[in-house]
Amino acid sequence: MAISDLRFPTSDLAFIFGLSLVPRKALTMSKIAVFPGSFDPITIGHVDLVNRALPLFDKIMVAVGVNTSKHYLFPLEQRLEWLRTVFADEPRVEVDYFERLTADYCNRIGARYLLRGLRNASDFDYEKTISQLNHIIGDGIETIFLISQPGYSHISSTIVREIIKGGGDASPFLPENLVIEPPVEGLND
Ligand code: ADP
Repeated sequence: MAISDLRFPTSDLAFIFGLSLVPRKALTMSKIAVFPGSFDPITIGHVDLVNRALPLFDKIMVAVGVNTSKHYLFPLEQRLEWLRTVFADEPRVEVDYFERLTADYCNRIGARYLLRGLRNASDFDYEKTISQLNHIIGDGIETIFLISQPGYSHISSTIVREIIKGGGDASPFLPENLVIEPPVEGLND
């Protein structure tokens, strides 16, 4: 009898022919990481982090966290559009947004990893607690941290916003071809 005569899906075949210790789900499961953030706006620091993390995961979901009690300089739609433009040529990067808990969002889309960047000790102090909480409430979600490259560790969306609000040129910190005009509203915040 030829294998093709057995009418089983491939994953069942693997199960039958000796791979019974590997959960069938694991044979098809892809490694998805969520890179959550405000991206208000995206900077070359964010882009560098995603590019360096791509070899570690099958897919990276760059997800804008929407916190209704937080004030942003740029509207959500604008931030999403910039992210989509920047990662347009990378099929393994998708862009999305979510409300409420990051861990719930990860579970909803089947992501078992979070990606975050560390620039300095205060990033570490803050991120440590958040990652421990996400591990508990997210049923084992692991946060993978990448230390920022020396050339990027001074870059933050906060600094970029200040430059833009002050009418300066933020282009050295922005992804190529991304021109960001100061928003009409929000300049006095
Ligand atoms: P949040 O409001 O959640 O901090 P941000 O958009 O400011 O969102 O940052 C998202 C993530 O990107 C954070 O983990 C932050 O540490 C990381 N990050 C931001 N800028 C850099 C950078 N220059 N180098 C490395 N990581 C960075």
